[in-house]
Parts: sequence; structure tokens; C-alpha cells
Amino acid sequence: MPTYVYDFVEGNKDLKDLLGGKGANLCEMTKLGLPVPPGFIVSTDACRVYLRTGAEPPELATQIGDHLRLLEGRMGQQLGDRNDPLLLSVRSGAKFSMPGMMETILNVGLTDTTIAGLIRHSGDERFAWDAYRRLISMFGKTVYGVPDELFEHALDAAKRAAGATNDLGLSASQLHELVDEYKKIFAEYTGRDFPQAPHEQLQLAVRSVFDSWNSERATVYRRQERIPADLGTAVTVMAMVFGNLGANSGTGVAFTRDPATGARGVYGDYLANAQGEDVVAGIRNTLPLQELERLDPRSFGQLMSIMDRLEHHYRDLCDIEFTIERGKLWMLQTRVGKRTAAAAFIIASQLIDEGVIDVDEALRRVSGEQLMRLMFPAFDLAHADQPIATGIPASPGAAVGRAIFEAHRAAAEPGPTILVRRETNPDDMPGIVAAQGILTSRGGKTSHAAVVARGLGKTCVCGADALDVDIEDRSFTVDGVTVREGDVISIDGTTGNVYVGQLPVRPSPVVRYFEGELSPMEDPLIAAVDRLIGHADGKRRLGVRANADTPDDARRARRFGAAGIGLCRTEHMFLGERRVLIERLILADTKDARHAALEALLPLQRNDFIEILAEMDGLPVVVRLIDPPLHEFLPPLAELTAKVATAQARGEDPGRDGELLAAVARMHEQNPMLGLRGVRLGLVIPELFAMQVRAVAQAAAVRVAAGGDPRPEIMVPLVGAVQELETVRHQAEAILDDIQGIPQIPVGTMIEVPRAALTAGEIAPAADFFSFGTNDLTQMGWGFSRDDVEAAFFPRYLQLGIFGASPFETIDRTGIGRLIRIAVQEGRAARPDLVVGVCGEHGGDPESVRFFHEVGLDYVSCSPFRVPVARLEAGRATLT
Ligand code: PEP
Ligand code: MG
Repeated sequence: MPTYVYDFVEGNKDLKDLLGGKGANLCEMTKLGLPVPPGFIVSTDACRVYLRTGAEPPELATQIGDHLRLLEGRMGQQLGDRNDPLLLSVRSGAKFSMPGMMETILNVGLTDTTIAGLIRHSGDERFAWDAYRRLISMFGKTVYGVPDELFEHALDAAKRAAGATNDLGLSASQLHELVDEYKKIFAEYTGRDFPQAPHEQLQLAVRSVFDSWNSERATVYRRQERIPADLGTAVTVMAMVFGNLGANSGTGVAFTRDPATGARGVYGDYLANAQGEDVVAGIRNTLPLQELERLDPRSFGQLMSIMDRLEHHYRDLCDIEFTIERGKLWMLQTRVGKRTAAAAFIIASQLIDEGVIDVDEALRRVSGEQLMRLMFPAFDLAHADQPIATGIPASPGAAVGRAIFEAHRAAAEPGPTILVRRETNPDDMPGIVAAQGILTSRGGKTSHAAVVARGLGKTCVCGADALDVDIEDRSFTVDGVTVREGDVISIDGTTGNVYVGQLPVRPSPVVRYFEGELSPMEDPLIAAVDRLIGHADGKRRLGVRANADTPDDARRARRFGAAGIGLCRTEHMFLGERRVLIERLILADTKDARHAALEALLPLQRNDFIEILAEMDGLPVVVRLIDPPLHEFLPPLAELTAKVATAQARGEDPGRDGELLAAVARMHEQNPMLGLRGVRLGLVIPELFAMQVRAVAQAAAVRVAAGGDPRPEIMVPLVGAVQELETVRHQAEAILDDIQGIPQIPVGTMIEVPRAALTAGEIAPAADFFSFGTNDLTQMGWGFSRDDVEAAFFPRYLQLGIFGASPFETIDRTGIGRLIRIAVQEGRAARPDLVVGVCGEHGGDPESVRFFHEVGLDYVSCSPFRVPVARLEAGRATLT
């Protein structure tokens, strides 16, 4: 007969698949001999049968019955006993903790009959009615979906009638009346009476935990997080212990060290005469855990020694929930605790020093994602007032600016602004781009505002639902405070806090360390980062280069640890004052005019390259020949049309605008991203690529003459067929052969058109290296316009769980990743010495870096600020 139910004494912490995280850790604590109330776990196997067949496995009722009898024996109490009833807590617990799933029903087993036994046994009538009230609302809500507000309103009304400020102010008889009211609400909403059979309560509670696996929120969360839909959840059934049995009872949460800073010592909150949910709900003010030492020194001492034991056992920071029932301590939950990014580094480093873990393990316990968070500027909170509201921290950073309530005004406003909206939509884009930060009162991490802000690297706090935003009045109100358009506010995208006024912003100390301004001796966080990134460097196989187009960027990239430039986008060098030279090139209608324009550009480009090669002396610098469509360098068609029409209406000669308009109209493309770009441009105007190749070679010659060690490489963008590359390569080699005194300059190609990936075996013989342009490869592989879709419909896609992260942010392993695998494999088969890297945005995304390691790339290239993140993650990727 299959086993579906396990006693706490039968499991351990490694059985999370079968018993869920919560259950497995309760078993582990039981095994350690810690004071855990007895209980049992209905396994995920049982849940899976239920989900598959729509019914509990036939053996389940008997097995639950057997374990219940064991539990009754241990407790000396029976479920449903009218004199001294056993009461149970029923909790969900999947392998991964999952928002949206049912959590807890307390006091299962209370009925109109058993309450008399609870009153007698506890000697506390008020407590008993309060317990019954809690059961009816939790059970009603989670098993039958009765809206929480219905119970809340009834509770508020009772408090008002009694003149009480919190629920402790309600007497036994008032709570008794409230129970009657709750039962009425339950019956009206569900069409049945509150179940009076304790065994039925238990059975329904277990089933509702199973059902909660498929709640909409849980389903979407799983889809996004790629958690398999068929894992199922376990159900933990445990004897109730009560923290609300008077002053010598209470409940608390605690950490074995400070989860915010990593500082050693015990941290936590305690609430006397309360149940666990009261601590989380923040109904009453908690006491710092240290106060417990005064209130109940014996329990405090016991708790300290248990926590010490847990930390040693788990070899990590643990968080716990505990309850004290009339002076007796009970452990209700433990797990390896969540912590801030800074604390993760500090704790990992401390644990090495304490001899608890080795450096590899410490590196496993931090992440590139955390390092990234540490590199944003933050508010200096030393003198800050309390936040006026807290929303969802959707995109990190610290932003200060004047509150502006409409996108077009934010776009027009000089100086820093914070765009405040109920929610945003694609029409708000200009304001989002212009603002320092975005604040919304609605929506979560996948709302439009959140997705777009992350894409743009803007600070965003969303879903701050305490804000009453009035767009018409251009103001928001929260707790009696009104902020009007133009008032300065500060928003913290790392914590979700919103402040009135201007908070001072502190640059990230971690960035200052990479910049060389702070030394590891000065701060434990920097020391930890230095130690772990140093270890990652020793471990990693992937090289890390930077995407840099200016000498400044190149310098920073080097300081941040880049081993060269993986992408120097030359089109950025044609903007600003040089734009007019490009205009001249485009407008040239004779060979001579074109030649003159190119001759003017050549020395400018040469100087660009000389400076960058000097900064990166001795390291590779991959110069990409010009990529985007030429018309991006010309004024917009609509603007020119209007100018010319105005001039003509006035009877004036539109002059140069007229010529420009003709050229822009001639070059206009419906889909410029799929038009005359990259190598296509190089083949249509061969002189442009030729000028760039000459500038690279001449710059190298200048650097060699100056005693330098220039290592330029030339990269051809947007190749889809080997013939394109061969043509350009042939032309480039002719130019390079003509220039004396320069090192060998490799010529390679980007792989960013799906056809290039699929024909990599043909292309490789003509390429010294490949560099994956995963931005375009994603754009063309999915058919997603990079400029449009993230704002237009990604929020909906994310909400539906079609993907968990934008494929422009994190590489789509199965689709675009497959193209990459094919190209690596077939490219290397054709040319074993082929160097292969990536230079799309994914090169600095932690999850994608792991993928690039797995597929065997030689290096990743990313923005200078992401270089440390890539170094760390590339090191972590080698650890199994
Ligand atoms: C890419 O497509 O990934 C790439 C690096 O090129 P760009 O973003 O300049 O198109
Ligand atoms: Mg590209």
C-alpha cells in the first residue's frame, strides 16, 4: 500500500520534494530533539493523486486516521472531545515557497460542542471564543473563499460597539456574539452551516490545501518561475499550541543573526499574549526579542541555545517562528532565512571565518543578482523621516524629483521628476523615459510601469496602494498628507519606500570600491565582495569583456575588471557634432562628394580608436563596423515634411531642408530594424566600411609607433550568409595588407540573424571569431520588435506567465539558446580555433551568464557596470 502520510519523526530536511519545505524542516527539528508540537505530513504524492484524479487516494483517509490516533495518544487529547479537545493547525507547504497558495488554518477541531471543553481546560473563556472566531474566518476564507472583508467589517463593528481599539478590548461575551455573527456570514456566503464535525473540518482543510496549488496566483507564479505544475504541495497537520493564553504566553519570529546587516546576535520580535498571525499582521506593536529575557528568562535561554544549534546544524542563517504557551517554548517553523544582498555577502564571508563553510560554498551562497542590487545608489537614511507609504520595490535605485502626474508634463519638465500614476500604459512612455523614477498606486512586479522601468534601468515603486492618486487634481493623499504636483518626493526602488522631500543619495560603496575609491579594509561588505569576487575570478572559465564606445567607458571597464572590449559600437561615434558629416555622406550625389565626406570622417574615427586602444593596451578591442540604418542619423520625416511645407506655404525656398526631405523620403523604411543595416549597408556603400577599417588599422599603427600593444579586432554586424562576410572580409584584408607595422587584425562576425546561427558551419571558415548579438537574435528569433514590445504587451505576457522574465533580459534557453548551441557546435566543428563570445545585453545578466558558461563560450561582454556581476556569476557557474 503506498504511503501518503508521514509522522514528524519519520522525515528530515532533505525530503522537501515529498514533505514540502515547511514539513521537512519540522521533521528535522523533531529529529534534533527540539520542542516541536507533534504532528504529521500529508505528502505531495497524495496531492498529486488528488490533482490528477480529482479525488483523494482511497488510502488517505485511513492513513490520516491512523496518524491522528498516534497524535492523540501523544497529546493525551482527542479531536472532537467535548471535555478536552485536541485542536490542530493545518498548513500548506510546497517544495518552493509559493505566494498565492493557502497558508494556514488554526484551531481546527473547534465546534459549538468542543468549545466548552476548551473553556474548561484553558480556564479562559475569552481565549476560547477568540480561537473559535479565528477558525471560522480562516476556514471560511481558505476553504470556501469567503471574502476577508466580510469578517473584518464584523470585527470592526464589534470593536466600535465595545469602544475597543484592538481585539484585546473585546470581552468573552462580545467575542461570543462575534462568533455568532461570523457563523451567520459563513452560512450566508456558503449556503451551509459552519461544519460541526471536527473530522470533516480536517478533511476539508486538507483538500483546500491541495486545491490551493491550482489557484490562479499560484499557477501564474509557477509558470513564471518555471516551477513544474505537477509537483503538488504537502499538508502539515500539527497539534495547536497557544501563545494567547495570558501574559506568560506569546509568540515571535527570530533570526539567528541580523538579516539586514549580517551582524552576529539574535534578532527578532516578540508579542506577548498573541497568536502568530498577530505578529505578521502588525495589529499590535511587537517587542524586541531581547525583552523576552526579562519576561521569561527560562524560555529565552532555551530559545538562544536552540537557535545556536539550528545555525550550526544548517550552517547558515536560520529564521524561526516560535510560541510560548504558559511558559513552555515550542518551535513552529524554521528555514534558511531570507536576507538582504549586503547581508548575504557579509554572512557568507563570516561563515568562512568561523570555519563553518569553505570559500566555494560561500560563493554559492551569493549571486550576481545580489551584487547587481548592491551597485545601485541608495538613500542615506540616517536623517530620513518615516516613509509615507511602502509599495512594491519593482526596479532598484534611489530617485528624487518633483511629483508630476501626467506623462507629457514629466517629459516637458526641466529638472528631475518622479512620474506618479495609478498605473501606466504605453502612452506614458515619454514621461517614463524623462522621469528619474516612477511611482504607481496599482500593479505588481509585472505591471507596465515595473517592466518598462526595469528595461530602462529607472527606479520604480509600484502598487503603493495606500496612495490615493487623483490625476485630475494632480495630487495624491496618504494618511492625511497631500502631495501636489511639483512637490519633491523620494522613492526607494530597493525597499519600496516613498518619502516626502529630498533625501540625500549615497553612491554605492561597492561601486566606489570597484572604482578604486574605497579599500576592502574599510568596510565588512567590501571585504566580503572583494574576497568572493576574487575567488570567482580564480574559478571562472569564461572571460569577461565590456561593451564600451568611449575612452571613459573603456577606463571604467578596466577598473571593473574587464579583460578587453567585446563590443565597440561605432555608430555612437557619429552622433552629436559629427552628424552633419554623415548627412553629407548620405546626401552626396557624386563620388567625389562622398569621398570628401569620408575623408573628413577618417581622422575623427582614427582618433577615437587611438584613444580606446590606448586605454585597453594589451587587451582585445572588438570594433564593430557601423550598424544601424543611416536614416537614424537624419531628422525625422514628419518634422522635415512640416518644415518644408511651412516654408513653401510662406513662399520661401526650403533650401537644405528640401534636399534632406527628399533623401529621408527616399531612404524611408517600414521596418528599419529589418532593413538597410549592418553588413547590408557595408555592401551598398562599401566606402563606409573601408574608411572604418582604415581608421582602425591606422590607429593601431599609431599605437605601435608609440610603443603600445594595440589588439584591435574587426567585427561585421548582421551577417546572414557567408557570402556577405566573405565580400567584406576580402575588402578589409586588402586595406589591412596595405598598412605596415601593425599586428594581425582578426576579422569576425556577429551572429545575430537566425540564419547565421543555422549556417554557422558555413560562416565559420570566413570568421576568426563569432560574437552572439543576442539582442537582435532575440528580436528576430521571436519576431519581437525590440523597440516596441516590452512596453506594448510584455506586461500581459508576464502576467500570463508566458515567460517569467523578458527574453531581452534573460536568454530564452530553449528557443534562442538552441540557436546559440547549434552555432557554437557547428561553428567549432568547422573551425576548432574559433573564438566565441556574446555581446548582447544578456552578457551581463546573471542567469544568462550561467547559460553561456554551459554552452562553452569563451567570453561574455557587457556594460562596464555589469562586468563585476558577470565575473561573479561566471565563477559561480563552475560550481556544481
Ligand atoms: C545585439 O544585437 O545583440 C547587439 C549587441 O547589437 P545591437 O544591440 O547594437 O544591435
Ligand atoms: Mg545587433
